[in-house]
Amino acid sequence: SQTALNIAELIEADKKHYLHPTTVPKLFVENGPKIIFAKGEGVRVTDVQGKSYIDGASMLWNVNLGHGNKELAQAAYDQMTTIAYSSSFYGYSNEKAVRLAEKVVSIAPGDLSAIFFTSGGSESNDTAFKLARFYWDLKGRPTKKKVISISRSYHGATVSAGTATRIEGFHSFSGSKDPDMVRAKSHLTNCELGDRNDPNYEGCIRDVIEKEGADTIAAVILEPIQGAGGVHVSPDGYLQAVKALCEENNILLIADEVICGFGRTGKMFGVDNWNVVPDIMSVAKGITGGYAQLGGVLISKEIRDTIVQYDKILGHGFTYSGHPTACAIGLKTIEILERDNILENVNNMEKELKKGFAYLTDKYRYFTKSRAVGLLAGFELQQDREADLPFAETVRPATFVVEQCFKRNLILRAADFEKGKDIVAIAPPLIINKEEISEMINIIDAAMTEFE
Ligand code: PLP
Repeated sequence: SQTALNIAELIEADKKHYLHPTTVPKLFVENGPKIIFAKGEGVRVTDVQGKSYIDGASMLWNVNLGHGNKELAQAAYDQMTTIAYSSSFYGYSNEKAVRLAEKVVSIAPGDLSAIFFTSGGSESNDTAFKLARFYWDLKGRPTKKKVISISRSYHGATVSAGTATRIEGFHSFSGSKDPDMVRAKSHLTNCELGDRNDPNYEGCIRDVIEKEGADTIAAVILEPIQGAGGVHVSPDGYLQAVKALCEENNILLIADEVICGFGRTGKMFGVDNWNVVPDIMSVAKGITGGYAQLGGVLISKEIRDTIVQYDKILGHGFTYSGHPTACAIGLKTIEILERDNILENVNNMEKELKKGFAYLTDKYRYFTKSRAVGLLAGFELQQDREADLPFAETVRPATFVVEQCFKRNLILRAADFEKGKDIVAIAPPLIINKEEISEMINIIDAAMTEFE
């Protein structure tokens, strides 16, 4: 650990020169960083003072193979000392990008058959919107421009992805908005199936398509399981219904797999839980487990075959599209996922987590609505779970429990931006073991005691 003097100086420099993402600026310059991470090993991270934490959130749902993985570091080293970076513009290519494209396509569902590389999730979703609109242009349907996104979704922070995001807190930062983003309510299977008598019909995707006109809509985007919005699992039948609705109306379905992709839910991709094949699929985070900035957009054979007929320059791309070092890490990540049967571990650990949830549900009357699909999990806190009654708005129980866990060296994440929803999200690295799950449950148990 560093000396007290060094740390104090680091904090001052942080407060002075580093504008942090998704952080309250006024509080930050007053209080400084909550934690300065220094090291990581497996599911644990250590701060500059040498205090160790379980990373129950995989940082931002991305450090899927855990911290300090030497194989991933070696893959980066090997590539960097061969050729760290080369461009993919102007017809240039590199072996690792090609091999990763081939690999991702081989594990992707259905006929998803090509990938456009980006540097992260927001770029992937912006690219997905542009590709969807471009596809319809090429098909002679230039009026199809709008994208429908659904309540509580998180799709990123760039202008288009940020507008598609339906967590209001992310809209206050800047007035810039993509005018072609429209919103629908989420998770309404009966409505999407066309049940107009359902009280939720108004505002559901089907209703929005009817109101806007299918000839104005390019795509629907959704997360198979919403992450930042509070770990909301699509009910069975929902994704199938939305897919059928899209087909019926000539609308592309974009699955945002930025969190779900690469094993997080116990299947390789979130949509695999329901055997739905989207037309476009955005990926990022888990593709490198956070060891490099990489994302991508997969497109169906039909979209790919249409686009490759285009004989002018495809005026879209990022300097780091197909970054050789990032792609080398991506390849190694998938190799480890497959070689070490990580998905099997995810499914086993889901069971352990659910046992812990059952114990906490029995013990605490405020603890409710726990869910876990693979290691994408969460629970809610309610004043009266029998009556489905939330806590008063002035109380923030999810934030409180997360703080109490933090004091006990467990990092979790609260999702309590929505009135009456006090959700704690749990998403540990996919390599977590039984003992470490128990440790997490014990800490949550102790934190809940404080709360009572
Ligand atoms: N989509 C989803 C589902 C996400 O959870 C995120 C980030 O949390 C993004 C997109 C944006 O990705 P990035 O932060 O890499 O731009």
